[in-house]
Amino acid sequence: MVRALAAAAFLASVTAGCAAPLALREEGQRALLLEHVQELEPRVVALLGTEWARPFEVRVHEIEGCRAETRRGDRRVTIDPDSFDDGLRMTVAHELVHVHATGRWAGLPRGVEEGLAYWIAARATGLAEEYEGPEPCPDALRAALTLDDQGYDELHELERADVHQAAAWLASRLIP
Ligand SMILES: [Zn+2]
Repeated sequence: MVRALAAAAFLASVTAGCAAPLALREEGQRALLLEHVQELEPRVVALLGTEWARPFEVRVHEIEGCRAETRRGDRRVTIDPDSFDDGLRMTVAHELVHVHATGRWAGLPRGVEEGLAYWIAARATGLAEEYEGPEPCPDALRAALTLDDQGYDELHELERADVHQAAAWLASRLIP
């Protein structure tokens, strides 16, 4: 049984400037996030095969250098305000994978978890064909499977993108 939907709590601490009154903008963002979570969470859970409730919080706040992040441990999801301009459904689905993967495995490599998140999010949002490209290069696959946290953190942006793509490709073969 999936009960996680009822556990989602939405916080709003929007600091981005906007022409609309802040309260209205926060209300609109909260409603949109709730709509996406309600649509996508059951799909993510079904695709991952996880079943237990996962209490989590979603808040909107500026993040340096990325669109969204999910804190391990308490599963607090932070969405950058810029994510509302483009690809919000994919971003929400991706973070929901992290929410539901947390605690599922003791030590999944970061690159593999990211690839899994990209692949499951693509499936959940109907964009799976993005990962049906050619096989990734062996170096990227090896890095996805074997890099530790420090090695992953030290990757340059383009290398990280290759690792994510390789891991997503791998996940697409393991979880069709
Ligand atoms: Zn991620």
